[in-house]
Amino acid sequence: MNRPLSIVTGASRGIGAAIALELSKIGMKIALLDSDKINGLKTYGEIIDSGGEAIFVECDISKVEDHKRIIQEAMHWGGDIRFLINGAGISSPVRDDLLKIQPDAFDSVMGVNLRGTFFLTQAVSIQMINSSSRENRAIVTISSVNTDQATVDRGEYCISKTGLSMMTKLFALRLAAHNIGVFEIRPGIIRTPMTEKVASKYDKRIAEGLVPVSRWGYPADVAKAVKVLVAEDTSFLTGTVINVDGGLSIPTL
Ligand code: NAP
Repeated sequence: MNRPLSIVTGASRGIGAAIALELSKIGMKIALLDSDKINGLKTYGEIIDSGGEAIFVECDISKVEDHKRIIQEAMHWGGDIRFLINGAGISSPVRDDLLKIQPDAFDSVMGVNLRGTFFLTQAVSIQMINSSSRENRAIVTISSVNTDQATVDRGEYCISKTGLSMMTKLFALRLAAHNIGVFEIRPGIIRTPMTEKVASKYDKRIAEGLVPVSRWGYPADVAKAVKVLVAEDTSFLTGTVINVDGGLSIPTL
C-alpha cells in the first residue's frame, strides 16, 4: 500500500504523539520529528505494533541549518510530503513577571516555536510546490489560545504563538494557488507533560469554571481536529482556525 507521508514535529509525546497515532490509523505513514529519542521510539513502536509505517528522525527544529537533512531523510524514506503538522513547541523556561524576561529565554522560545517552525514550513512548502503530485496537501500548525489570550507570566510564549497565527495566514495566501491548505489549531488547556508542573493550579481553576466544558482537554481532542483537516481535500477551507479548548476562548459577559 502506498500511504501518504505526513511529517509530524513534536511527535514523541503529548499532542504530537496523539496526532501521529491518529494519522497512522487513517492510513498515513508518519515521519516522527522530535528531539526526544526515548519517547520518540516509544511512539514509533506503537505505530509499528498497530500495523502502521513510521520513521523516527531525531532533530532540533530550532537548528534551521539541519532542516535540509531532516526533510531529505523523511522524503528518502517516504516519498513526497503530503502533510506537515507543526506540533513541536516549548513553554517559557520560567513563568515570571513580564518585566523580568531574559533575552536568552525569549530567544529560545522564539527559536523553536516561531523561527524553527517558520523555516521548516518554508522548506516543506517548497518541496510541496515542486512535487508533481496534485493530491490534497496540507500544513497544520498547533498554536494556542495564547495567540489571543494573554498570560502575563509567559509573555514570550504568547508572542511566539501569536506569530504562528500570522504565519498561518501568510502561508495560506502564498500556497492557495497551489491548492495546499494551511490551517491553525488553537488548543486550550491540554493535559500533557508540558502542563504537568501547573496541573494542580489548572485542576482548581477548571473546577471553579474556567473552561465551559468543565474538563481538561486531552491530546486526542487535538488529534481529532487535525484528522478532520487532513482526511479529505479541505484546501478550500484554507486559513481556517480551529479552537480545541472546551469553549475557553468564547467571550462571556
Ligand atoms: P510536550 O508534552 O512538551 O511535547 C512537546 C514535544 O516537542 C516534546 O517531545 C519535545 O521534546 C518536542 N520538542 C520541543 N522542542 C523541540 C525542538 N526544538 N525540536 C524538536 N522537538 C522538540 O508539549 P505538548 O503539550 O504536547 O504541546 C505540543 C504543542 O501544543 C506545542 O506547540 C504547545 O505549545 C502546544 N500547546 C499545548 C498546550 C497544552 O496545554 N499542553 C496548549 C496549547 C498549545 P523534548 O522533550 O526533547 O523537548
